[in-house]
Amino acid sequence: MDLCYFDHNSTTPLSDAGREAWLEASDDHWLNPSSPYRKAAAVKVRLEAARESLADCFDVSKERIVFTSGATEANNSVIRSWEHAGMKGKVGINPTEHPSVLEAANYLLGDRVQWLPLQSDGRVDLEAFEASVRSGEISAVSVMAANNETGVIQPWEAIAELCHEIDIPYHCDASQWVGRMSVRGLNACSYVTACAHKFGGPKGVGFMLVPEIDAAFSILRGGAQELDYRAGTEDVPGVLSMVAALQASALGSSDLRDVFVDRIRSEIEGVEIVGEAAPRLWNTIALLMPRHPSVRWVRALEKAGFLVGAGAACSTGKSTVSSVLRAMGVEAEIAGRLVRVSSGATTSASDWANLADAFIQVYQQLESFNDSPGKVISID
Ligand code: PLP
Repeated sequence: MDLCYFDHNSTTPLSDAGREAWLEASDDHWLNPSSPYRKAAAVKVRLEAARESLADCFDVSKERIVFTSGATEANNSVIRSWEHAGMKGKVGINPTEHPSVLEAANYLLGDRVQWLPLQSDGRVDLEAFEASVRSGEISAVSVMAANNETGVIQPWEAIAELCHEIDIPYHCDASQWVGRMSVRGLNACSYVTACAHKFGGPKGVGFMLVPEIDAAFSILRGGAQELDYRAGTEDVPGVLSMVAALQASALGSSDLRDVFVDRIRSEIEGVEIVGEAAPRLWNTIALLMPRHPSVRWVRALEKAGFLVGAGAACSTGKSTVSSVLRAMGVEAEIAGRLVRVSSGATTSASDWANLADAFIQVYQQLESFNDSPGKVISID
């Protein structure tokens, strides 16, 4: 049975454009771009052309683009640069960031972290934020574009504007944004981080925007690759595949998702949507189910032919409650019933309708199992 995939925020399949570019580069352009012969120079030309295409997408100079191994590396590097930059003040961090920001900030910045207050919908409270940056207590800021678990969109444009005015660096993790939403305006952020595998590119490759002049910034020391920011032989097939995938990516609409939510709500009483009052990514729903733990929903839905998430993929397996929901004030018992559904640009109306049927069927089965606990669940 083919599984219907509803976990695009975790990762996406390689797109046709991404696969074609990767295969071509792996077959024909596999030389080390720094080698001294002409054939290698041709690979370097391709790498630089990819950098220019990406720079055009973001309307920045190509010196602002650095290729990385993904968003985790890039996020850690930004936070680390704030540890070493001789920066004295607090660093304002959104408490619903991905662990690659949260853990790096806790580890590297310790007491210098100032958690930014949130509104009940999961967005950073702009009034409180403005008051603290204007008071001068914050010397750098990290707030993502859109959340991986809830899809909640942060007011990153307003934050970028304010940080620019006050002249403090602003890092925006746009891993869930790039390839799904327009990237216009992201060039106003000092640092933007993203990874290819959220928009049809390969895993283990990403890119970041850095400020035009940032002599202090360094990801890896060694050779002089990536304008000296990041040493190491570049993954040219990965980069070419990423850029091709981004160029082929399509922006979607939330209409099908909203029909799904209406249907689920009409059939299953007590379903809540996390961050419902906030603007959210068109493809994401974080459902708090009225009963039964996430893991039972995920397993039963998989048996019914659907792959869904239970919060961030990287926290699956840890018994801790989602840090995103905790930061939003959701009680642990309720957060334990989170099911995350995230679609892709090619997810069809019938995929959504079938998923709704499966949720309703699974709910009935889980309920009947609860009523007679000796019974074995089967949803074949
Ligand atoms: N930031 C966000 C918002 C993410 O969703 C992810 C991926 O799950 C990452 C960072 C880390 O990306 P990667 O695992 O590709 O380094």
